[in-house]
Amino acid sequence: MNEGSRSSDGLWFGKDMSQAEPIPEQTIERAVELMRSGRLHRYGEQGDGFPEPSLLEEEFAAYLGSRYCVAVSSCGAAMFLALKALGVKPGDDVLTSSFTLAPVPGAIAHAGARPVLVATRADFTTDLEDLADKLRTSKARVLLLSHMRGHVTDMEVVQDLCHRHGVALVEDCAHTMGASWDGRPTGTWGRVGCFSTQTYKHINSGEGGLLVTDDDDVAAQVILMSGCYMMYDQHRCKPPVEVFDRWKYITPNFSMRMSNLAAALLRPQIELLPERSARWNRIYARLEVELAKAPNVSLPRRHPKEAFVPSSIQFSLALEPAGIERFLQECQLRGLYVKWFGCPEPTAFTSNYSHWHYFKAELASDQSMSVLRHLMDLRLPINLTEAECDLIGRIVTAAAIVAAREPSHPLCISTSETEQP
Ligand SMILES: *Cc1c(COP(=O)(O)O)cnc(C)c1O
Repeated sequence: MNEGSRSSDGLWFGKDMSQAEPIPEQTIERAVELMRSGRLHRYGEQGDGFPEPSLLEEEFAAYLGSRYCVAVSSCGAAMFLALKALGVKPGDDVLTSSFTLAPVPGAIAHAGARPVLVATRADFTTDLEDLADKLRTSKARVLLLSHMRGHVTDMEVVQDLCHRHGVALVEDCAHTMGASWDGRPTGTWGRVGCFSTQTYKHINSGEGGLLVTDDDDVAAQVILMSGCYMMYDQHRCKPPVEVFDRWKYITPNFSMRMSNLAAALLRPQIELLPERSARWNRIYARLEVELAKAPNVSLPRRHPKEAFVPSSIQFSLALEPAGIERFLQECQLRGLYVKWFGCPEPTAFTSNYSHWHYFKAELASDQSMSVLRHLMDLRLPINLTEAECDLIGRIVTAAAIVAAREPSHPLCISTSETEQP
């Protein structure tokens, strides 16, 4: 962002909202030790102790209260492997949330299947009435439910609906590590939970994914498919050997393992999660109050049963596209990078289902698009101070006032300056 073209009101933020926290020093030492040893692959043909991913799997399974965890290369890989393990075949339909990130329909496409979109409610969660309709009318045997940007819908209802229709539930928990509904962690409500350890999520190994399940057959297939080269005995958290015997000759290796290095970076971060969650919740609570002061801005009311870990904040801006364009420009003039899910062009991490032309979306109802059209998104670095939260509130208010008064041309800003992740 160019400081030369600042706004006349003197408001200036200028912080890079995508800047990650450093990796803790002891963890860096462990990573260097691993590099000196050269042992970066998780499996050793001659055994040699339990490598880092096996320990991480054991620790993450214990943290969530799941029977099994398998460490893989990304959350996208975890979702793909979950669909394969649940028997999704090319040409099948898979139900999924219409408000989600591109890797979710991507995982469905990777399995050769077709996403069937479930509508999004005004509070950014998956619409349960539409889910009930789609469960009744579609042939899908799997629901890949996305807790997009950490918004968790009523999981008791989801679980009950899936149960009644014999549909397997897979949770996309890329934004809900440490979150829960009514005290029960996300990722443990269905057959499989999929987590991301990509830099912009709650714990950071650059890239990585964690799949959790209580199901013996799913766990064995995922270990085989992730690419264990038959060295599944080196997993600590694994089903009995006879389960592998059922699958080992008929299951392909898709090579989606996690490396020792990624797992070593992640292990010490798991115990930081409660403290990080508390910090993110304080930031969210402060911003929620400040942003609500801006005209045309509204924030979703969060359900008391929902415990969330807000690494980002979303709000609705009740303006036409030209007004929203102007709002984004005015924020940018003040050094604040805001993202817009309704942008006509997919930009950086932000796209919506109207951009995913590789499948014929039976488009979710107009209701979904009218929610996404107004949906604004701000990443929340965990080191955001109270003063910075207040400044963001003042900038959003100033920008929203200008935007309501003087909308701009309805063109999405897509200069290189906005192409932060
Ligand atoms: C980031 C993200 C994913 C994918 O995670 P990767 O580890 O990048 O594959 C899936 N779903 C949502 C909602 C995400 O935000």
